[in-house]
Amino acid sequence: MLRFDQLSYWERQQFIEENTFVIIGAGLIGMSTALSLRERYPSEKILILERGYLPTGASTKNAGFACFGSPTELLDDLNSIPEDKVWETVELRLKGLELLKKRIPLDAMSYQNCGSWDLISRDEPTIQQETIDTLNLEFQRRFGYQNVYKRDLDFQNKFGFRGFQAAYFNAYEGALDTGKLIQNLQQQCILAGIQFLFATQVDGWQAHMEHVVIETTHGTLDAQHLFICTNGFAQEVFPTELKPARAQVLITKPLKHQIKGTFHSDKGYYYFRDIGERILLGGGRHLDFETETSTAFEKNEHIRSALVEKLAHQILPGQTFEIEQEWSGIMCVGQEKKPIIKSLNKNVHAGVRMGGMGVAIGSAVGEALSKLV
Ligand SMILES: Cc1cc2nc3c(=O)[nH]c(=O)nc-3n(C[C@H](O)[C@H](O)[C@H](O)COP(=O)(O)OP(=O)(O)OC[C@H]3O[C@@H](n4cnc5c(N)ncnc54)[C@H](O)[C@@H]3O)c2cc1C
Repeated sequence: MLRFDQLSYWERQQFIEENTFVIIGAGLIGMSTALSLRERYPSEKILILERGYLPTGASTKNAGFACFGSPTELLDDLNSIPEDKVWETVELRLKGLELLKKRIPLDAMSYQNCGSWDLISRDEPTIQQETIDTLNLEFQRRFGYQNVYKRDLDFQNKFGFRGFQAAYFNAYEGALDTGKLIQNLQQQCILAGIQFLFATQVDGWQAHMEHVVIETTHGTLDAQHLFICTNGFAQEVFPTELKPARAQVLITKPLKHQIKGTFHSDKGYYYFRDIGERILLGGGRHLDFETETSTAFEKNEHIRSALVEKLAHQILPGQTFEIEQEWSGIMCVGQEKKPIIKSLNKNVHAGVRMGGMGVAIGSAVGEALSKLV
C-alpha cells in the first residue's frame, strides 16, 4: 500500500492537502455530517476517512426501521432516565427522520409507510390504557403528533403470531432499504464534492491552535477541523460515557407469510420485519449483555438459538423456514440514550453513541455537528 508521501502531485492536491474538514467514519453520521457541512460551506474541502472497504460498523448492517420509540421502550426509559432527557432524545429522532426524508427521495431508499407494532408477550405485564393515553398526550403536547400509539385488537389474525397478548400500532414509523440509503448518501456526497478514502484507519491526532494533524495507516494529513463519527469504536475517546453493543441479525430464505410492517417486542430488544418474502429478525442482546459488549463482528450461539426459537414459536409458528444469512453489527450505548454531540476542543468534534436508532437520529446529529464550527 502506498504511503501519502509516495502519492503524485495530483493525488495529494485532490485528496490529502488543504482539507478544511476531515471526518472519521463513513457511516450514517459521518456522511450526514459531511452533507450538512457542505450545505453550510459550499466550497471548503471535505474528506471522509473510513477504515473498512465498506462502512464497517452499524450503518450498512441495521434492520432499516425508521423508528423513534415503542411504548414499552419509552416506558422503560422513563423509569431509568430523567423524563426531559427521554423526550429530548425522542425529539431528536423525530427531527432526524424529517430531515432524512427531505434529504433522500423516499423511493430512492424504498421507504415504506408501513407503521410499526409493539408486541407484548404473554409473560410481560400489560400496559394500562391510561398509560398509553398519557404517552399520546405527551406526543401531542410536545410535537403535535396525534394518537401515536393505538391498541390493535386484530393483530393475531392479521399476522398469525403466537404468544403475544397485545399489540400497539404506531402509524408514524416505517421501514427502508438500508443498502439503498447508504448508497444514496454516498452518491450525494460524491456529487457534493466530498472525497472518501476507504481502507484508511485513523490511529490518532494532535490538535494544534489552528489545525489538527491526523495520523492514519498511510501517513499524516492536516485539517482545520476533525469530526469523530466512529460510534461504537469511540471508546478510547469516551472511556466512561459509551461502550460498544453488538447486535445479531438473521434473515430467512423466501417463504409464504402474512407479515407486513416493522415489529418490536421485549422493550425493543427484539425487532423483525418483512423484506418481501423474507423475514429479518434481530436482537436478543439483553440475553448476554456482557459478551455483546464487543467490537468483534462475531456470532453469539446462545443469542442465535433464541432468535431461531422466537421465529419458530412466536413469529412463524407452525411454518418451516430456513435461515439464509446471518451477521452482526456494532452499535454504541451508554447510561444515557441521548447521543454525544460535542467539541472536545476548538478543532476536534464528536458525534457518537447513537443507540439503536441512528437511522432516525443520524441526520439531526449530522446537522448539529456541522453547527459546532
Ligand atoms: C444489527 C443492527 C440493527 C439496527 N437496526 C436499526 C434500525 O432498524 N433502525 C435504526 O434507526 N437504527 C438501527 N441500528 C442502529 C444504527 O444502525 C446505528 O445507530 C447507526 O448506523 C450509527 O451510525 P454511525 O455512523 O454513528 O456508526 P457506524 O455505522 O458504526 O459508522 C462508524 C464508522 O467508523 C469507522 N471507523 C471506526 N473507527 C475508525 C478509525 N479509527 N478510522 C477510520 N474509520 C473508523 C467504522 O469502520 C464505521 O464504518 C441498528 C444497528 C445494528 C448493528
